[in-house]
This record gives sequence, C-alpha cells and structure tokens, in this order.
Amino acid sequence: MKRRTALSVAAVGPAALSAAAEQAQQKPAGWRTAPLGYSDTPVIPGQAWKVHDIARPRPVVVAPGAKPGDPPADAVVLFNGRDLSQWQHVGRGADKGKTTPAKWKVENGYVECVGKTGDLVSKEKFGDAQFHIEWSAPAVIDGDSQWRGNSGVLIMGRYEIQVLDAWENPTYADGQAGAIYGWWPPLVNPCRKPGEWNVYDLFWEAPKFEGSRLVKPAYVTLMFNGVLVHHHKEVGGPMAHRVVRQYEAHGAEESLALQDHDTKPRYRNMWARRLKPYDAK
Ligand code: MG
Repeated sequence: MKRRTALSVAAVGPAALSAAAEQAQQKPAGWRTAPLGYSDTPVIPGQAWKVHDIARPRPVVVAPGAKPGDPPADAVVLFNGRDLSQWQHVGRGADKGKTTPAKWKVENGYVECVGKTGDLVSKEKFGDAQFHIEWSAPAVIDGDSQWRGNSGVLIMGRYEIQVLDAWENPTYADGQAGAIYGWWPPLVNPCRKPGEWNVYDLFWEAPKFEGSRLVKPAYVTLMFNGVLVHHHKEVGGPMAHRVVRQYEAHGAEESLALQDHDTKPRYRNMWARRLKPYDAK
C-alpha cells in the first residue's frame, strides 16, 4: 500500500485524524509494525476465543476522569454537588412506593442528611456496578457506637455497606464503617477523623435469582480510602439488625439508597458505572 505523505494528511484536514492516527499514517523512520492479531492460534480453554484472536472485540474506549475519583465518561453522575435531581424518597409504610422529592440539605458541594426524612433513593437502578461515594461523619461528636454518624450505602436498597464514624469509636465489628452490615467486618479500619472525607470505591456483583430461588449470591469488593477491605466477599443476605435475613428475590436492577439513621453524615462526588461481562455486546 502506498504510504500517505504529510501532504496528503494535510489535505484530509487536521481534524479528520487523531494525533495517534496521524503518527501511524506517517510511520517515521524506525517504525516497527506488529500483527493486529492471529487466526492460527489455539482456543483459550473455557473461552470462545483463540490466543491473541484477531477477531476478538477490543474493549471500548472510556475517557477517565481528569483526576482519580472524578467520574469517567461512561459514569452515571449521581450527585454533582449542586442538586438532588437523581434522588427521591420512596414510602415504605402506608405510603409504600409513593415517591416524594429528596429533602436532604445541599450546600457547599455536599449533601447532608437532616434526619427523619427517609433514605435517599436513586432514580436510576443498577445491577452489577461500580460505585464511587465520598462521605464524612459529623465533625461534632454527639454520641457513641452506632450513634456516631450512622448511615449506609444500601446497594440495591437492601445490602448495606456501613457508613459510620469509625475513628476511635468502638462498636461491634460487623457494624463499623466499611462492614457488610451484620455479615462481615472490613479487613482493616482506615477511617479518617470526624469531618474529614472518606472514599468508597465499591464493585458489586448482584445476586441472581430464578423465580424465587437464589442461584448466585452477591459479591462485593470495597476500597476504603484506597485500602482494600473486602475482596470479592460473598454477601450472606440483606442488611438486618440483630437477626439474620435470607435472600428474597428482587429485580436484576434496583435503586441505590443512602440510609437516614437520624444522624447528619455528608456525601459528595457520587457516581456509578454499570458493568457488563467483557464479551457482552
Ligand atoms: Mg447504617
């Protein structure tokens, strides 16, 4: 094939080619060419693809956030620091299922639970997903154990990753910050001081049901301030206080919720990404 010259690239127009494509077109001295894949290699055991399969779809491009913690291009931004348009309250008593506007307080780029207004419930629903959630416990300590800034990330509205002021605050291990509440303590406690911001990066595999029967439990991986505290941990069932609850079938996607435990934790910079298996189209 005839190599494009710099002149022909210019004729196409600088906006038509990315810098990488332009460099490839020009192939400067010393340029080395490698195959884009192979079709004469063995099939990888357990997969439909050959080793280095030239026909295997390449991962889609996702522009990352400007800095670590910023939402990447394919994220659903759940809270942008300005409004609660992605959230609402959902009745659970006599008004079960009735939705009302979110009443938590938004100021200075964060949202604060005001207490006794109900959980914040996301309008969007998620199954397998990645969540980024930043939170801080109240700077002024006005209780102990489970009353110090108790809240929670309620995945699918029922599986709780505990939010709690865990800075020099003894409480039961499976109820401290980062715990899969009522099931598993975090591996370690990397919680920051009250009033400082903590970060959860959470990777969720939703449970699978066939009718009312559980065929695969949920699994969670959690980075807490950059520290691994759950590594693909099996979740035994929904969150509960002082009892063990069994799985009950629910939708493949459900709302995320933030728990109103009548304390005043703050949240900011929250986003989610829906996860699909690598080869899913
Ligand atoms: Mg809680």
